[in-house]
Amino acid sequence: TPFDQREGSIWFDGALIPWKDATLHVLSHGLHYASCVFEGERAYGGEIFKTREHSERLLQSAKLLDFEIPFTAEEIDAAKALVVRTNGKADAYVRPVAWRGSEMMGVSAQHNKIHLAIASWEWPSYFDPEARRKGIRLDMAEFRRPDPATIPCKAKASGLYMICTISKHKAERKGYADALMLDWRGHVAECTGANIFFVKDGALHTPTPDCFLDGITRRTVIALAKRRGIAINERTILPEELATFSECFICGTAAEVTPVGEIGEYTFTPAAITQALAEDYTREVQPKAKAAA
Ligand code: PMP
Repeated sequence: TPFDQREGSIWFDGALIPWKDATLHVLSHGLHYASCVFEGERAYGGEIFKTREHSERLLQSAKLLDFEIPFTAEEIDAAKALVVRTNGKADAYVRPVAWRGSEMMGVSAQHNKIHLAIASWEWPSYFDPEARRKGIRLDMAEFRRPDPATIPCKAKASGLYMICTISKHKAERKGYADALMLDWRGHVAECTGANIFFVKDGALHTPTPDCFLDGITRRTVIALAKRRGIAINERTILPEELATFSECFICGTAAEVTPVGEIGEYTFTPAAITQALAEDYTREVQPKAKAAA
């Protein structure tokens, strides 16, 4: 079912409305000029994992695009919980989105109303579960993550996803699950919707997030690795180093911890560290009350 034809409720500018009524005008600034920021979150057992961190990142993303969302983090948390509860799926993906409205049409949007909508739906696995078991295959993207001097790279802004969609489509046409993007300097950066980790000699290696999203899942995985006493190296990773890593995985709210089997000509074998962190993550996202029971 297309996303505009589903059943359920969407929270729109302060209240729940029927799913099919959650529309906007074609002359919306957010659509034409990408003045739009969003979040991707998951609820497990009815509870949104790290809801406050996501709400705060959403508010911060808007600020980086020079607009202010007219709701507080507390109000956004409450709205998200209400959407999940109302739509009735304990395990759900949650999508808040904020954008500039239709009051002015042009680059300048000084007087446009800022809208906020929140939807939720079931999204069991981001990648094909079978491919996931063996490790997904990644293409090398042609486009690179831009220089932070050219864009607000810390914002989860819709405009920054143009390159991701182009790269992912190209990868899918070639039979790959996703694409690994380098940054403007040619260093390993991230996938189109997830961060990347490598394993060498029992230690984790991951690129320093200085020009791409420092994912909430990425930070969670680092904390879980620390808890296990696994060494973590956040550093510059060159593409030619891919030959030296034994394991590789990507992580993100939607992707969770997904093993990688191949990146272009390089192969990896999902093994103990990837498996341990995937299991730790699955345990970590469970609602605290349930996990204790
Ligand atoms: N990078 C990109 C480009 C993403 O879209 C995402 C998903 N939001 C991530 C990284 C991972 O972020 P998070 O763990 O906060 O979901």
